[in-house]
Amino acid sequence: MQQNLKRIAGGNWGISQIHIWILYKTVERMLAHGSSAWCLNPTFKMKRKLSSIQRPFLLHISGAYRTTPTAALQTILGIPPLHMQLQFEARFTSIYRLRIPLPPFITDTQPHDLEMKATGWSTHPSEHLKPNQISFEDGETYIDRKDIINIFTDGSKTEHGVGAAFCVLTNDIWAYQWSAKLNDNNTVFQAELTALHEAVIYASHLPNHNTSKIHVDNRASITASSNSKSTNETARKIFKILLSNPRIKVSWVKAHAGNIGNERADQLAKDATQHGQPYSHTKLPKPHIKGLLLEEWQTSWKNGDTGRKIYNIMLSVSLRPTNWIREDVIFFSQHGPFPAYLKRFHLSDSDYCSCGGIGTALHYATECIYTVFWHMRKPAPNFEQEWLKKVANNLVSRQKIRGIIKFISENRDLFRPP
Ligand SMILES: [Zn+2]
Repeated sequence: MQQNLKRIAGGNWGISQIHIWILYKTVERMLAHGSSAWCLNPTFKMKRKLSSIQRPFLLHISGAYRTTPTAALQTILGIPPLHMQLQFEARFTSIYRLRIPLPPFITDTQPHDLEMKATGWSTHPSEHLKPNQISFEDGETYIDRKDIINIFTDGSKTEHGVGAAFCVLTNDIWAYQWSAKLNDNNTVFQAELTALHEAVIYASHLPNHNTSKIHVDNRASITASSNSKSTNETARKIFKILLSNPRIKVSWVKAHAGNIGNERADQLAKDATQHGQPYSHTKLPKPHIKGLLLEEWQTSWKNGDTGRKIYNIMLSVSLRPTNWIREDVIFFSQHGPFPAYLKRFHLSDSDYCSCGGIGTALHYATECIYTVFWHMRKPAPNFEQEWLKKVANNLVSRQKIRGIIKFISENRDLFRPP
């Protein structure tokens, strides 16, 4: 396919980056066909084969020199290694579509650990919540009546983890509280819903003469829980409990507005992110498995032995492409029209620039007499990596880099040693 496309497009391709990218995606889709049957656990040979299919596209999209390491191009373009992409899709299809558990050496995540989208109506359409059961009115402070039990819920996600909590206020006394630590991969929305779910279960077990009011500072979880067609399984469970317990009411409360109940629930949830009892009833969110692709790619980028010049500048991989153009790739990969590069790849006998210095990328950016117009201050010895990182992240410096690369490319004879 790649060969045919190249023939159509001509030697220089003559088509824009975005179109080559679309062509690549088309080829990738063709290769993805049936991947859950053949690419769950690709062999080394398959990985190499897939990489050799992907590489010409990466070179053409980036405009990089043919010797530029594949790993560097993938990171620059935000395109994961092809075998990882296909393997990820194969696993995703197996777990979510075919509902087949994966072998334990691939992942401990099993279909029943993952949150599935619920479809259709959870109850008969004629069954609905009482009009006064749900309230989005803020500022409706809890009424201090003996027969009303006020419950406050909250979910929290911090660098320590994910926590959910609720606390119960009756007759000005904190009568009960619950909190738990969820899986680190759970979302804050899942934590909010979990807190509300536990709160409605608690309220449904209270003696019948009590009316309870649950105060939630997250509108999205109230909306989901009052909708019989919500696709979230936890929200559906909450809906069903509310439906059969009309004396349980849910009301929105503004967060961080000094409401003591809300503040307390917030604190409990935050504490639970660190020290809470582990809670495993909340399933893992769908994007979780996507994280596995990025994690795997990140690990291989970090531990790889090629593309280290680019790794120095871009420590983490991402599915978004960087805003680099061809000249940036050439300068920072140092695979380009530099005498030092030409010598290294046996394309020239000498690594000298015609000015007498050694023709490295740094030479042209800081000291060559032919590129004075774009010069930047030379880094102190041993600080080259820091300098490159700074230059890569500075738009003015990047413009200078682009000027230098264009100038060298257009005036090659000038840089050839006599
Ligand atoms: Zn020079």
